[in-house]
Amino acid sequence: MEISKKHFDVVIIGSGLGGMVCGTILSKEGKRVCIIEKNEQIGGSLQTFRREGVTFDTGVHYIGGLSKENSLYKIFNYLGIMERLETVRMDEEGFDMVFFKEDAEEYAYGMGYENFKRILISKFPEEEIAIEKYCMDMQRICDSIPLYNLREGEPEDMSPLTIGAKDYFEKLTANKKLQNVLAGTNLLYAGTEKTPLYVHALVVNSYIESAYKIKNGGDQIVKLMARIIKENGGEILRKNEVKSIDVENGIAKSVTLSNREKIEAELFISNIHPAKTLELTETDAIRPAYRNRINSLENSISTFVLYLILKPNTIPFRNRNYYYFNQENVWESANHTNDNWPMMYAMFEEVPEKQNEFAEAITVMTYMRFEEVEKWKDTFHTTLEENNRNEEYQVFKKQKAEKLLDTIAIKFPNIRECVQSYYTSSPLSYRDYMGTDDGNMYGIVKDFNEPVKTMISVKTKVPNLLLTGQNVNLHGVLGVTESALVTCGAIVGKEYLLNKILEANAQTA
Ligand SMILES: Cc1cc2nc3c(=O)[nH]c(=O)nc-3n(C[C@H](O)[C@H](O)[C@H](O)COP(=O)(O)OP(=O)(O)OC[C@H]3O[C@@H](n4cnc5c(N)ncnc54)[C@H](O)[C@@H]3O)c2cc1C
Repeated sequence: MEISKKHFDVVIIGSGLGGMVCGTILSKEGKRVCIIEKNEQIGGSLQTFRREGVTFDTGVHYIGGLSKENSLYKIFNYLGIMERLETVRMDEEGFDMVFFKEDAEEYAYGMGYENFKRILISKFPEEEIAIEKYCMDMQRICDSIPLYNLREGEPEDMSPLTIGAKDYFEKLTANKKLQNVLAGTNLLYAGTEKTPLYVHALVVNSYIESAYKIKNGGDQIVKLMARIIKENGGEILRKNEVKSIDVENGIAKSVTLSNREKIEAELFISNIHPAKTLELTETDAIRPAYRNRINSLENSISTFVLYLILKPNTIPFRNRNYYYFNQENVWESANHTNDNWPMMYAMFEEVPEKQNEFAEAITVMTYMRFEEVEKWKDTFHTTLEENNRNEEYQVFKKQKAEKLLDTIAIKFPNIRECVQSYYTSSPLSYRDYMGTDDGNMYGIVKDFNEPVKTMISVKTKVPNLLLTGQNVNLHGVLGVTESALVTCGAIVGKEYLLNKILEANAQTA
């Protein structure tokens, strides 16, 4: 059989946010881009699904830093998607609410540092100095990272890389409740005792600056990018899995797809997990020591998600998120056993599609380790390859959903009466859709004890094979978008790219 060949300037493996941002930038730079995605839908974690007329997000519930003065807005504006992105600004008096089982108080995160301080100081009047210091430290850390502020250069202060977030809070104040309230949204980065302070700072600061939900699903972001890539002559091949990255004499020449087609290019960018990229790349150019290092890195934990469809007009839409802990120490939340699961959950109301003042749907996330679904590891299920796993798995998910609903009912006693129906996803769903081994949420764990080991460069030993996505730099919409700037900066020049972003914003100011 004749194998057809196509040729592009750039092939991007995976249409996650990182791949799509790289594709948009490089297509704007005149390069002919081809993005190859194994799934039916583009977007990776930005995918959505619809049930009973309601759209659910699978991996983006709110986004930080989308106000005009913030970096993410400026990057999205340069990319050309900001004008058409339908966003909803969250509640400035509390976009995130943190609460604990044995405590009737609700702790609100105000939007903007002045609101944030005022609201928190009203709950902890004796801790004003600590709260002031925390706000100053977060802003100082974020200011010291040039890329975060769309500036050239290396970070001015490397110490937040080597300080643990938990240790920082313990030194900030002796007040345990305040320590846990300030770290109360650590599900956003799957916080553990290893989490570096800079990860906490970059994630939480972006939301304090400004927090938004995306209307009608976060996939709007990648759909708008896809349109630009296509307008610029690029192609997006869905339902095509890359089976190998073909390297000859140390240079990547092509990728081979599941249908055996080869796509050739001058340059290749992998948006998938680095360990998976190496699995696809058989070449001596990549040394065994590098492979061992990448393969030995720990991945972040996975998640069990409950998607609730609500009866009409039962729960008012409050435009805020809820983070609940059934014990005081938020850093322990992922160390659950079968008996005490779930130790925490985060609850996100989807923006009502019917312009209603009542919520239509709620997504509830909690931690789950892959080992908890290990029994079904040999099954596979996506919309392209349907396999409803077995009855035992369905029973397992139902039991977990009911247990999670019981936990939600501690704070929201009437929740069951408001729920019309529900759906669930497990680490297996994330594994099968994202193409990882364990359905991890945020990629490789960053460890302040080993900052260099857990940082992945965008460059590989194959000079025309680069990496992007949440495993390099940082996860999340902001982190991944900035990772893509690093990747594309290595191709077109970082200073050049940053200038383009600033110029685009100067023109539309
Ligand atoms: C449950 C959950 C909730 C989250 N909530 C938020 C939030 O509220 N706010 C926020 O900012 N961030 C959130 N995040 C994080 C954010 O969604 C991710 O960091 C980000 O989307 C990851 O983007 P990525 O570019 O690394 O690619 P990924 O999303 O990992 O996508 C990789 C893509 O590559 C494809 N692929 C894999 N292998 C192959 C192959 N061999 N061939 C072709 N294609 C392949 C996959 O199908 C996938 O489409 C959340 C994540 C999760 C999991």
